[in-house]
Amino acid sequence: MKIYDMIVLGGGPAGYTAAMYAVRAGLSALVIEKVAAGGQMTETAAIDNYPGFEDGVDGYTLGGKMKAQAEKFGAESVNAEVREVFLMDKVKRIVTEDSEYLSKTVVAATGAHHRKLGLRHEEELIGRGVGYCAECDGMFYKGKNVAVVGGGNSAAADALALSRIANSVTLIHRRDSLRASKVYHEPLINAENVHLLLSSEATEFVFEDKLTGVYVKDKITGEERMLPLDGLFISIGRSPETDMFKGQLALDDNGYLQAGEDTRTSVPGVFAAGDVRTKALRQIITAAADGASAAHFAEEYLADAGGF
Ligand SMILES: Cc1cc2nc3c(=O)[nH]c(=O)nc-3n(C[C@H](O)[C@H](O)[C@H](O)COP(=O)(O)OP(=O)(O)OC[C@H]3O[C@@H](n4cnc5c(N)ncnc54)[C@H](O)[C@@H]3O)c2cc1C
Repeated sequence: MKIYDMIVLGGGPAGYTAAMYAVRAGLSALVIEKVAAGGQMTETAAIDNYPGFEDGVDGYTLGGKMKAQAEKFGAESVNAEVREVFLMDKVKRIVTEDSEYLSKTVVAATGAHHRKLGLRHEEELIGRGVGYCAECDGMFYKGKNVAVVGGGNSAAADALALSRIANSVTLIHRRDSLRASKVYHEPLINAENVHLLLSSEATEFVFEDKLTGVYVKDKITGEERMLPLDGLFISIGRSPETDMFKGQLALDDNGYLQAGEDTRTSVPGVFAAGDVRTKALRQIITAAADGASAAHFAEEYLADAGGF
């Protein structure tokens, strides 16, 4: 069976950048992707902050371009779901639903997903008023009325960031106080256009072709009312796609793969790139940057190993 120099798990921006850098460095590389090239990018129709696209680009197109660029230089792609990985030996084994692959190095680029609220119609409203990334999509709501669901640091940071762009921001949280660090409390209370709705939960989306509001239930009185909105950001945490690595690679307390800027994991020859890795900022550009680093350090690892 062919032994690749590198197998990349996941075909998002981290994965395809790793593959492109690897093949340009003369390594053989295979990307295994279960859905479509682009990863989370495919969920958005407008990416305005990736350099080089002054008019913005839709995520599906950008994902396709990253794949085409890597393949142009010789990367291979397989459309399959990785079910099991065996990473502890020098030659690593990757098992999909119907095949097995061998490789000298592995780049884990399986990403993460934002936790969903679980309300009816949530999926179909993504990009039509419902979002998960204020940093990415906040600018579309300039002068508009938005809400953020959540009570932790990221929800508080999202509400503050949106307060500088939107007309009004309602922070909806199911507990009677915010979980966010104290440093956020004062700025939130002082921001004139931020309204806190505590002990409250969003229960139902109101929409026509896009979101026009959300029903919010007061958990103490049981009263329900409609909050008219142009946009709703769901900021209740993320889940990394790391189940398959449990017991083999070190994970942090939140389940992300432990790896620094050099993307090296706890196992030699295995690298973690993009949203799946412990990091401060999860964006396309930082995922792509990780992909480049992973390929660089994989190349170094192979050179040190003396071409086994
Ligand atoms: C709605 C939305 C809008 C966004 N907008 C922006 C924006 O405007 N600007 C910006 O910079 N960032 C934006 N982001 C964030 C950005 O998309 C992510 O930070 C980036 O895609 C992370 O890249 P990644 O390659 O690490 O992981 P992902 O993009 O998550 O890719 C991981 C890939 O791995 C695959 N995978 C997972 N498990 C398996 C398996 N078992 N087998 C095979 N394949 C597997 C997945 O299918 C996926 O394609 C947005 C995110 C979302 C959800």
